[in-house]
Amino acid sequence: MPNFVPNGYCIYCPNPSDSDEHVIPYGLNGNYVLKSASCSECRDITSKFELALLRGSLAQLRVGHQFPTRRPQERPKSFPLLVTKAGHESKVDASPDAHPLVLSLPLFPKPKLLFGDASDPQLRPTRVVAFNLNSIDAVVSAHNADTVAIVQKLQYVELARLLAKAAYGFLVGELGRDRVRGSYLLPIIFGDMSSAGLYIGSCDKMAIADEDDPALSYQSWRLPPNLGGGEIAVVIMRLLPHMKENPAYIVLCDLHEKHSDTA
Ligand SMILES: [Zn+2]
Repeated sequence: MPNFVPNGYCIYCPNPSDSDEHVIPYGLNGNYVLKSASCSECRDITSKFELALLRGSLAQLRVGHQFPTRRPQERPKSFPLLVTKAGHESKVDASPDAHPLVLSLPLFPKPKLLFGDASDPQLRPTRVVAFNLNSIDAVVSAHNADTVAIVQKLQYVELARLLAKAAYGFLVGELGRDRVRGSYLLPIIFGDMSSAGLYIGSCDKMAIADEDDPALSYQSWRLPPNLGGGEIAVVIMRLLPHMKENPAYIVLCDLHEKHSDTA
């Protein structure tokens, strides 16, 4: 991150900073860290939606892939599973090796500011992709069941806030805080979802990851004249770069024009 220089202030608000900022959470193997870049108030806000995801729809993935945790004693020892035997359904607590360990992620339309109907700024998931980390056949036979099913919440608001936060922090790290404007993404990070569909979306295709592909990359674009002609960054993000096939997301962030020394 050559262009990020800690200056004692939070990257999200005017408060003094008091802690390092993990751009992608530690609990998802995130190792892109901005030194002394966030304040305790902002950390309370961002850690709330991060923890909701890490303990919610991403929990089974984290256990299955043994991602790091700061609280190993709180790591779940079992997950609920709906088991049907001879037409009768019951709920059991299944150990991680006898559970499908499903990762489900929402997909969205592409960011509507550039690619869709910008008069409809809401973010709505269009479908869900799900992966079983354990073989379903093995889980079914471990429970001597006819079928098994799981119940999982689709935490797409929390995911969108995490994507906004990661894209914003990444750009501050790559471009320096003076270049990143944040009027698109800061409201989303702080929970205002009213325009999130303009700036956040999925790529058309699943990313087929190469080991050398970065989890985060960006290109600088210029908006068309009817949208003001300003400079923005288009961030492509794969939250789980170690998984060969998983959705890639697109996040747009507005930028300040490059400072020019000529008068
Ligand atoms: Zn702050």
